[in-house]
Amino acid sequence: MSTARIDVVVVGGGIVGLATARALTVQLAGASVVVLDKEPTLAAHQTSHNSGILHAGIYYQPGSLKARLAVEGCERMADFCTERGIAHDRCGKLVVATDETERTRLDGVAERARANGVTVAELSPGEAAELEAHVRCVAALHVPSTGRADFAAVARTLAEEVRAASGTVRTGVEALRGTPTAGGWRIETSKGPLDARFLVGCAGLHSDRLARRSGSDPRAVILPFRGEYLEVSEPSASLVRGLIYPVPDPRFPFLGVHLTRGLDDRVHAGPTAVLALAREGYRRHEVSARDVLSMAIWPGTARLVARYWRPGLSELARSLSRRRFTEAARRLVPDLDAADLSPGTAGVRAQAVDRSGGLVDDFTLVEGERSLHLVNAPSPAATAALGIGELVAGRVAEAFGS
Ligand SMILES: Cc1cc2nc3c(=O)[nH]c(=O)nc-3n(C[C@H](O)[C@H](O)[C@H](O)COP(=O)(O)OP(=O)(O)OC[C@H]3O[C@@H](n4cnc5c(N)ncnc54)[C@H](O)[C@@H]3O)c2cc1C
Repeated sequence: MSTARIDVVVVGGGIVGLATARALTVQLAGASVVVLDKEPTLAAHQTSHNSGILHAGIYYQPGSLKARLAVEGCERMADFCTERGIAHDRCGKLVVATDETERTRLDGVAERARANGVTVAELSPGEAAELEAHVRCVAALHVPSTGRADFAAVARTLAEEVRAASGTVRTGVEALRGTPTAGGWRIETSKGPLDARFLVGCAGLHSDRLARRSGSDPRAVILPFRGEYLEVSEPSASLVRGLIYPVPDPRFPFLGVHLTRGLDDRVHAGPTAVLALAREGYRRHEVSARDVLSMAIWPGTARLVARYWRPGLSELARSLSRRRFTEAARRLVPDLDAADLSPGTAGVRAQAVDRSGGLVDDFTLVEGERSLHLVNAPSPAATAALGIGELVAGRVAEAFGS
């Protein structure tokens, strides 16, 4: 690989790395920006293995980056898609409480949504049935600003815009480690070394590793949580008009098994949230010794398992038993016929877990000397990607200015 001097190397060609690179070409006009991704194609991991939802920002802690960047990102991402002709819409969604305990939690979601400035409507079961005729609930929340978007297409478009602004996007190049030099970094890659003034990590499932191998302490390890989907075929698919979500368990960052009709008109149930034995373990039997070892030696893993073994086991049961998975979907729409639900795709979430076994909630940036690593960018980071990119690029621009 050429050792020509580069201003900023961004590791990770997912939606967040590419949004960051694009923002860098704007905020540091004239700087040379290079994006590296280890896969032969861009957006090969979380960006193309998700529910495809533009999250409105109802769930997140008011004042957090997630809340601010999701609320703003939902609008901005929709506008971005409109301007570039990328498939998307604002179809709205229904969050349904199926018993009295969930009703109380639903009230909490409504309160949080309003605190985040998101318009929601509290609906009676009759009103909910006007939107989704087949849901069973004691109460529901309608979120009109929720939408759907083709995040992989957004990522490809961002890459085109980076290239159009004289940036470089390279696939099939893995960043192995970064070593500080007098002028910045020497980055060892699978295709040889390159030198850069600034290193930005947006490496998703490997973000903590890249940070550690470049001298930063992410104070967390990425644990991979596989999310499996069931495909819902006719006639059950007709029972789902749009997006139907359960009330999430406030202890987790995951939203629970939901029913979604995608932009391609296909209906899915899911995803589960099962600790995977490989960071890119899209199938149950995939095991990576290196990934298992990094989980095993991190003190937070045992503490997480001790703290969440009960819900963890029910997620595992859902993953192993189609009947249990189907039951979760049928809590929302009881008339779904188990015979119409078959195994579908899966994604793996990159979730940072701290030393105490806590699931890191907010997007997390680890800043070092001429480096910045985004070490926690779980959902809704696809929705929020443009804002995250600008935030990261702004910090890099500040460092260049100082
Ligand atoms: C099942 C599931 C459902 C989800 N649903 C939604 C949703 O509906 N809405 C929403 O907003 N978000 C959702 N998310 C979250 C969203 O997909 C992610 O937050 C987002 O895609 C993160 O983007 P990223 O660019 O950080 O990561 P990624 O897309 O994973 O990109 C990281 C990239 O880094 C590359 N890479 C890693 N290490 C290296 C290295 N050493 N050298 C070179 N390249 C490297 C990888 O190949 C990869 O392409 C979901 C996620 C999952 C898994």
